Amino acid sequence: MPLKLYDTMAREKRDFAPADPDRVTMYVCGPTVYNYSHVGNFRPVVVFDVLFRLLRALYGAEHVAYAANVTDVDDKINAKAAEEGVPIDVITDRYLAAYNADAAALGALPPTAQPRATRTMDAIIAMIGRLVRNNSAYAAEGHVLFDTQAFTDYGALSRRPLDEMIAGARVDVAPYKRSPADFVLWKPSKPSEPGWESPWGPGRPGWHIECSAMIEQELGLPIDIHGGGIDLVFPHHENELAQGVCADHHHGEYARFWMHNGFLNMGDEKMSKSLGNVTLAHDLLQAWPGEAIRWALLAAHYRQPAAWTEDQLVQARNSLDHLYGVLGRAKAVEAVTTSDEDVLAPLLDDLNTPAAFAELKRLGNELDAAVRKGAPDAAALKGDLVALAATLGVLQQDPQVWFQGGADEGLKAKIDGLVAARDAARRNKDWAEADRLRGELSALNVEVMDGPAGATWRIKEQA
Ligand SMILES: [Zn+2]
Repeated sequence: MPLKLYDTMAREKRDFAPADPDRVTMYVCGPTVYNYSHVGNFRPVVVFDVLFRLLRALYGAEHVAYAANVTDVDDKINAKAAEEGVPIDVITDRYLAAYNADAAALGALPPTAQPRATRTMDAIIAMIGRLVRNNSAYAAEGHVLFDTQAFTDYGALSRRPLDEMIAGARVDVAPYKRSPADFVLWKPSKPSEPGWESPWGPGRPGWHIECSAMIEQELGLPIDIHGGGIDLVFPHHENELAQGVCADHHHGEYARFWMHNGFLNMGDEKMSKSLGNVTLAHDLLQAWPGEAIRWALLAAHYRQPAAWTEDQLVQARNSLDHLYGVLGRAKAVEAVTTSDEDVLAPLLDDLNTPAAFAELKRLGNELDAAVRKGAPDAAALKGDLVALAATLGVLQQDPQVWFQGGADEGLKAKIDGLVAARDAARRNKDWAEADRLRGELSALNVEVMDGPAGATWRIKEQA
């Protein structure tokens, strides 16, 4: 069963095959690190993490090179650094650490490389130099501009005519530009701003060239997959493509597949009320398990716009409660891996995560029934469930940890004692004592769930 991915350039799903199966290459544009990141910034993080996991499952973990950059040269960073009176790397190091901690809490594997513009400056300047030398770019008034007339396919990715792109993109009309669509590769820094030496004077790179240079440095051109949010198609990716093709001689190829995720829609009034002003992943993670946020971010197909609602977080947590419950009851079952890629079928179809979650639930129900009946296919069902869950990046904890993760050892021992005492009271039909103990547990923020194999418990969420 081939992997099919929707390619923005072709506007259709295509069979994916890497140029080199021993080194599959993927690059995803990341955030500017000057503050905690909005939860919407983490939709591409978890979407492309699922693709990273899927590619690792298909080609082998050591055969996938995945670079996800962060932008650490930006006016907003400069403003924040000036406000605090510190160098820019104090700001970018702080918020990069926070971003990586949030991504890890959402179950994202670390990419194989996380390039930063400040550490790619030589490659950026070298690439601009090549573009100037082959007449794809020109220097003017301390700036270097890409000459959009030099690339006949300009507009191919976004499929917009040049005049429409100029009108739609609020491009700066500047006297030193030959055409209004020409975009900045290098610009002078103001004396108060950070700058780097270059053949065109001290300055800083434009945003688009950073990514092309980082791709060339980390992965080599062309790459198999280039990803990012749908808002990056134009101008960012259109410009990356133009300069990337013109800077190198690789037969017009820059990225073999372009993939873009839809927006997370925060505008719904009902949602705004229920979640209040909580839009930063860092804040959401105080109230919700990262795994539930991850599930909710993957609940809609990645190309569709997704509404962000508290209801989806509740549903995600309920689904995880159910499936962790199944896995807890199937604890004694030894999972047998069928090494059958069929179980990944929903994901092989352009990362169809809604279908994959439905399949996960179906497997969970069948496994639960098989465990109840002591049926021999429980082992294979558990193997399939575990394999699909691992590719989705969910259900990776011990069920006990999921349900009781918020409690320290002393508290756990106390709760275990109260739950056992309550069980005993119920067996003795001492309902008053059982209720009293439940009240005591409730005061500890513990929810008791009575099941056929005795009571289990969990720490209730804060939300
Ligand atoms: Zn980029």
